[in-house]
Amino acid sequence: MFTAEILHKYMVPYHYCAACDHLFVSNPTWMEEAYSDAIVQEDTDIAARNIFNALKLAAIDFLVLGDRGRGKYVDVAGGYGLLTRLMRDLGFDYYWSEP
Ligand SMILES: [Zn+2]
Repeated sequence: MFTAEILHKYMVPYHYCAACDHLFVSNPTWMEEAYSDAIVQEDTDIAARNIFNALKLAAIDFLVLGDRGRGKYVDVAGGYGLLTRLMRDLGFDYYWSEP
């Protein structure tokens, strides 16, 4: 589908699987390096960004999605789970995964 730079040094081709409607990368040799820390030190606005993202997501979940915010949701690659914690505090049934 396209190529994107990962970790400011790896050019990675992204592929599309029509069977499961997902993008994926093959042979991600940089995965361990990418997840050596879930939050990079330079990410100084992580709390504020997550609060704003939670409010935007709450609006989308409640106003746009067919289940009107009553579904189960997952934040894939959700770091330490801050967004999930905020969404639960807003009353949504949220989960997260993080390798
Ligand atoms: Zn697939």
